[in-house]
Amino acid sequence: MMFDIVTIFPDLLDSPLNESIIRRARQADLVQIHITNIRDFATDKHSMTDDRPFGGGEGMVMKPEPLTAALNSVKERHGSGRVILLSPQGRQYNQEIAREFGREKHIILICGRYEGVDERFRAANINDEISIGDYILTGGELAAMIIVDSVSRLLPGVLGCVDSAEKDTFSRQLLKHPQYTRPRVFNGCEIPEVLLSGDHAKIEEYRFLESVKRTLERRPDLIAKEFGSLSKTEARLLRKHGLYDKIKALGTGQ
Ligand code: SAM
Repeated sequence: MMFDIVTIFPDLLDSPLNESIIRRARQADLVQIHITNIRDFATDKHSMTDDRPFGGGEGMVMKPEPLTAALNSVKERHGSGRVILLSPQGRQYNQEIAREFGREKHIILICGRYEGVDERFRAANINDEISIGDYILTGGELAAMIIVDSVSRLLPGVLGCVDSAEKDTFSRQLLKHPQYTRPRVFNGCEIPEVLLSGDHAKIEEYRFLESVKRTLERRPDLIAKEFGSLSKTEARLLRKHGLYDKIKALGTGQ
């Protein structure tokens, strides 16, 4: 898979793209990430990429010509892809959209700055607009990194253990169960006995129930969506522990 990131601050992206899992994925050629500096496509003598808004008002707006030239250059070099504008006005990013993007071959991320991009550039070039949440960042670079990171880790071979992406929070509409590691006793607190039993079926049961309890407590909105996807065995287990009716009430509104 290939990502192209179009920005006026390429240095901002340097460290997150060159550490840990993403660095290894790039080295193994599981993911290619290219950065294009919009400023290289400014044509005036001051390399201006923004200008005052028509009609007056605060801030600056990113000019359409350098943005268009930068995007066209990406398309010439790497082919056309899905062009995504990072914007607080876009649809809100989540794990489902990460999976959707993971099925693409080439994603081009356009990072806004200042008051955002000229509307004519947006209307002519953008296939999708993504917000990472209801708050305002100074620019789209961090949002682009969130997309690159969350999509890359879903690609085959990127994570050491395939299971760890498949069983994460949000792979179903459930939060992941609590985790424990050594030592067995920490500050007087023992780990749950079942985790030492070696009985994998019992451990899976315990983890599923903990996951459900945690989701009920913290994210009832999520578990309501999971109701229709419970298997018969899971439903039986939840009934036995008095949890089924609570989830049913959330899932069916009754
Ligand atoms: N004036 C714009 C508005 O009110 O909608 C906000 C512009 S913001 C200061 C500058 C840039 O940061 C945006 O063009 C966008 O690329 C990025 N940005 C800010 N908040 C974002 C968010 N929640 N999600 C994605 N990108 C965001």
